[in-house]
Amino acid sequence: MTTLRSVASNEDAYLASLADMPDAYLECRATQHRMNVTDPFRIVDSRTEQGAREHKGHTLYAKRVCTCDRCGMVRNDYYAISSRRGHHFLTKINATYEPPEGYAVHGLGRVEGGRGLVLGLGLDITETPVRGRGRPRRGGGAA
Ligand SMILES: [Zn+2]
Repeated sequence: MTTLRSVASNEDAYLASLADMPDAYLECRATQHRMNVTDPFRIVDSRTEQGAREHKGHTLYAKRVCTCDRCGMVRNDYYAISSRRGHHFLTKINATYEPPEGYAVHGLGRVEGGRGLVLGLGLDITETPVRGRGRPRRGGGAA
């Protein structure tokens, strides 16, 4: 049986979806992924390599793969290759992501302030009430 929960906005739906998410996923959403290179740079020719496609109009490019050691997110980085005075020069042109199971929040599109919401969730959990330290008053007027 499916339980339906009424939500007021995309933000509410987003927060509801975060409730079941593993802590590691929330940490990555709140800070950043801890990426390590798991497949070093190599040159890809998308005209001849099976399964490869062009990126931003480049058929020949350098690719490397990074993986987050906390959540398992995989990021594929694509770089244009140029040469200058005998040295190769790489300029990032694209990146694609392969999220671990359960990381993506489906059906909401992009939530404005998504990272801010995750940080706010962290504050909700850790915040303890502060007493006797109201907001400083300006100008000495009556409250
Ligand atoms: Zn991560």
